[in-house]
Amino acid sequence: MKAAVLYGEKDIKVQDIPEPVCEPHGVIIKVKLCGVCGSDLHVYKRDEGKGTIFGHEFSGDIVEVGSAVQGITPGTRVTAVGFSPCGKCYWCQKGKSHRCSDMALLGYQLPGAMAEYVHVPFAALGRNVFPLPEELTYEDGASVEPLSISYFSINRAQPKEDEVVAVIGLGVIGLYSIQVLKAMGVAKVLTSGRRPSRLDAAKNCGADLVIDAAKEDAAKIIMEATGNLGVNTVIECAGKQETFDQSVAIARGGGKVMLVGVYEEPLKWDPISVLAKNLTLIGCLGGNFPSAIELLKSGKAKAKGMITHFFPLEEAPQAFKAQLQDPQAIKIMIKP
Ligand SMILES: [Zn+2]
Ligand SMILES: [Zn+2]
Repeated sequence: MKAAVLYGEKDIKVQDIPEPVCEPHGVIIKVKLCGVCGSDLHVYKRDEGKGTIFGHEFSGDIVEVGSAVQGITPGTRVTAVGFSPCGKCYWCQKGKSHRCSDMALLGYQLPGAMAEYVHVPFAALGRNVFPLPEELTYEDGASVEPLSISYFSINRAQPKEDEVVAVIGLGVIGLYSIQVLKAMGVAKVLTSGRRPSRLDAAKNCGADLVIDAAKEDAAKIIMEATGNLGVNTVIECAGKQETFDQSVAIARGGGKVMLVGVYEEPLKWDPISVLAKNLTLIGCLGGNFPSAIELLKSGKAKAKGMITHFFPLEEAPQAFKAQLQDPQAIKIMIKP
């Protein structure tokens, strides 16, 4: 089968590799669509992870089911998340492998869905393999993972309807965060980003204020918009020193800063700014697939405006270049 394989820094080649073999506890999915993720780009930009087959945001059809798997049938349209515990760490030894500290992830250590077929180990219905309700398209199915991350982070923040929340960084996670906040009824969502296409998308997602951080001082405008109080909660989706500093600056006393974006460099920061305002910094890494599916099914979240480009699998190298450089790109999907 064809798969997109990482050869080195910004070097992806599409080649023939053996089809995956279904393990007794696994399933095989024929991939229909797979998104290029910002986390993939972190690896793609560096000379590491040779041999990686990316792809953890995907949808497709079940074509083979391992003999030990129950309740999953061939032909079912699904999205899934794949991981394999190490079997050696403290948690694995205790029989709590779901807490494994050295989990291998599908799309990184395990071959991902930028291929014609993908094998999902330890397949369990409703745990890591999720049937798509008929209202959901394959585009929706491949969008469940990023939406689930936005939902997970915001659910941890537990914003109230009358609060003011800022979303800093308007990549896909930031844009879905706006949709989730609005779905939860949060009255005021203030946002800041850079690329024009994403600023437009933020408006369409329901943001009450969209700041072009390339031209304007986002922190200053947000402070003015809140009568110099600052916001109750910041969803920091950009993962940069500058946006971290901004987030701490615009959080009001007793507020929360949710760290969602992945930082490529260590931060320099002065803790006094956090303790003087009694801020809570919360790290967010996780997803909630059932809630994301529910949001798409109800129409409260929409994947449609987020997907800007489709590339056939043969053009995976171009897809990665576009996700990295094309100012119009929001979410790019690969079609095997
Ligand atoms: Zn992702
Ligand atoms: Zn382990």
